[in-house]
Amino acid sequence: MSSAIGMALITAGHSQGWPVAKGGSRAITDAMASVIEGAGGRIETGRRIGSVDELPAADAVVLDLGPHGVLDIAGSRLPAGVKKAYGRYRYGPGAFKLDLAIEGGIPWTNEACRRAGTVHVAGTFEEMVFAEAETNRGRMPERPYMLVAQQYLADPSRSRGDLHPVWVYAHVPNGYAGDVTEAMLDQVERFAPGVRERIVSTVTTPATDFPQINANYVGGDIACGANTPRQLISRPRFALNPYRTGATGMYICSAATPPGGGVHGMGGANAARTVLGDLAR
Ligand SMILES: Cc1cc2nc3c(=O)[nH]c(=O)nc-3n(C[C@H](O)[C@H](O)[C@H](O)COP(=O)(O)OP(=O)(O)OC[C@H]3O[C@@H](n4cnc5c(N)ncnc54)[C@H](O)[C@@H]3O)c2cc1C
Repeated sequence: MSSAIGMALITAGHSQGWPVAKGGSRAITDAMASVIEGAGGRIETGRRIGSVDELPAADAVVLDLGPHGVLDIAGSRLPAGVKKAYGRYRYGPGAFKLDLAIEGGIPWTNEACRRAGTVHVAGTFEEMVFAEAETNRGRMPERPYMLVAQQYLADPSRSRGDLHPVWVYAHVPNGYAGDVTEAMLDQVERFAPGVRERIVSTVTTPATDFPQINANYVGGDIACGANTPRQLISRPRFALNPYRTGATGMYICSAATPPGGGVHGMGGANAARTVLGDLAR
């Protein structure tokens, strides 16, 4: 069932091309923020909300949080059944991320990989299945499944001369605290011998650091929830409308809601439709 996500991405890629935001993904956030501010909205960042009681009175409160985050800040307002369902919500594997500055980029032996914005690195199909199965069982494989992003190929403004930004993440068990930098570089080195000598600078983000950056990434799960069959068809809980929390005027809209993780924004769009429908009643 989770291969449906791959199918959707491939279909979108074939019909529209593969979008890369000029200047980095931050440009998308800036564009959305300018729409809100242009409509008279005010945005406050850098402030962690410990309880919904800190929020000003509003017709609707839309929480861009995973179910555990909603429990943390609004648990006492939720009906018992919703609280229980949110508590049962499961998170998936974590990510271990490397941000690299690479002189001359990655010297892939495969010519097509030198032109690709994103390269999935696994080895053979069997190696990929093994690595993913181990990770899902909570064991760190020797050869992790990885995603290598080299968007500078589509957006050269990110590079400085021949020094290019590349980031890589590996799937690791949820909450995995170990350092897998060497295992990841070994994986790249298999398909791009000599890459290590080209790396000028490295920043590592272990799975256990992700929740400090974003509380939605529980255990380093950047998809905000496991893609189990149950959670693919009903996240964050079984409900006619999954965006309602059961508390009047309070909604959930994060990647923990349909259609799941990703930068498509559909969780927010769907939640907004629900809010407008409820307000019109
Ligand atoms: C390294 C990486 C690579 C990715 N690559 C891709 C990709 O290629 N394609 C793709 O589609 N998706 C990708 N994703 C996933 C995608 O970014 C997420 O699925 C998406 O951003 C989730 O959106 P969201 O609206 O659920 O919430 P988020 O974007 O997670 O935003 C939630 C916000 O709420 C804030 N917050 C949480 N708790 C509180 C609190 N108590 N008080 C105040 N603020 C709080 C967080 O700090 C965060 O800013 C990637 C993610 C990462 C980390």
